[in-house]
Amino acid sequence: MKTAQRLIVSVLTSVAGAVCSSLLWAQSPTIVIQGGTLIDGTGRPPITDSVIVIQDGKFTAVGKRSEVSFPQGAEVIEANGKSILPGLIDGHCHYRDWMGEIYLAYGVVTCPNISNNPVEWIVAQREGVKNGSIRGPRVWASANIIDGPPPEGTGVLRRQRTSIIVDSEDEARKAVRGLVEKGVDGVKLFERLKPQVAKAAVDEAHKFGRPVFGHSLDIFTAAANGYQSVEHSWSVVYTSIQDSKKKHELDIGRMLGKVDTADVHAQMEPAMFDKIIKAMIEKNVHWSPTWATWFRPLSASADEMKRRELALLKNPQLKYLPSYILKDTETFFAKYEKMAPEKRIEVMSGYRMLQEFVRRFSAAGGKIHSGSDPNHVVPGYAVHAELQMLVEAGLTPLQAIQTASINVAQAWGKEKEYGSVEKGKVADFFIVRGDPIKNISDTQNVELVFIDGKKMDTSFHADYKNPIPRPIEDRPES
Ligand SMILES: [Zn+2]
Repeated sequence: MKTAQRLIVSVLTSVAGAVCSSLLWAQSPTIVIQGGTLIDGTGRPPITDSVIVIQDGKFTAVGKRSEVSFPQGAEVIEANGKSILPGLIDGHCHYRDWMGEIYLAYGVVTCPNISNNPVEWIVAQREGVKNGSIRGPRVWASANIIDGPPPEGTGVLRRQRTSIIVDSEDEARKAVRGLVEKGVDGVKLFERLKPQVAKAAVDEAHKFGRPVFGHSLDIFTAAANGYQSVEHSWSVVYTSIQDSKKKHELDIGRMLGKVDTADVHAQMEPAMFDKIIKAMIEKNVHWSPTWATWFRPLSASADEMKRRELALLKNPQLKYLPSYILKDTETFFAKYEKMAPEKRIEVMSGYRMLQEFVRRFSAAGGKIHSGSDPNHVVPGYAVHAELQMLVEAGLTPLQAIQTASINVAQAWGKEKEYGSVEKGKVADFFIVRGDPIKNISDTQNVELVFIDGKKMDTSFHADYKNPIPRPIEDRPES
């Protein structure tokens, strides 16, 4: 296959480049970021007038200026009036070949794929970024979704076309092993799996040290089965609905496109919230609401979001973005603007309940992930939109920033290396103008981005090209 050959050649030729750059690496100068306010991502209060020392791709010292020394001859970057944050980790990514520079421009340094395919392609992206032949964020890879047979009466669901369908524990284990052998970092399970089949898949994934991410209509079962994270707000919605006939009808209606996802949220039953939260916290199940996808026109910052998104999407340097994103964004905001008042009240009631769940889950110690889910929104940017929505819901800016850094690293089992600005960790961080503690949207004023201690090019180039194009069409994905 032509694409596969090109892909392999491209990865191989860049191995030579990687060897050269690792020789240079050993001589890389010490970098110091001085005078800015550090939000380190641990939840600790910000450190004003901070000094951060980076050597050989790692943070070697972090603290107040008076407490940290650094060698003469270091490259010093002054950060007065600026804030330093941990490099963002997208809580719900589906990487595509055109996303690299847009992620970098938003300070997103790692893109953990909740699902992707073909598996060979996403693994090649991960390796290509690692060896420097692809300009983009670090990739953590999950691949094809593992799912059960479609519910009776629905036929094969469009979204299942690239899924691995399993109906027994043996098949589930085999599917997981197959993906692990191809090099995935995590496993994605879906709503149609029978509980005991899902349990076998989780068990197999954990045997290989791979985290599990899942869609779920019943979070109690997902928690009992050992999922690391449950994806999407509607997992909470369906779990909360007590009438099983009503739940089933809403589920099938949404599957068949007869019920709008945003509308489903008005059916939430807050009386169940405490029970759901308790089950999630007991098993340390994280939660990725991906609610910017459905609700940002109801945010208090909706006008600002729309303005920012349209300006971005009309940037001539980004003319290579798929045209559907601009179209979808315009249609999406217009839909809410034209919405009949009674309808808007109904959808708003769902959003308010969701905010309530977010607030209570977080207050109880629950770990939220902010993510792009980039089929519908601009990747990278959407992470910041979710941070704004979290602060509106009542999280502190410090808590919000953790939802796109340390929390995600923890779910992927990578928090010892990634997710915060701490001595000994990989030097992933970004510098913004302003102070996100006072104004959370300042996280978007990105000035400098570092991955592995290296300064990245964060500008847009109209001729941006991924050397390993994705061999299939962009959509759909969940
Ligand atoms: Zn998704």
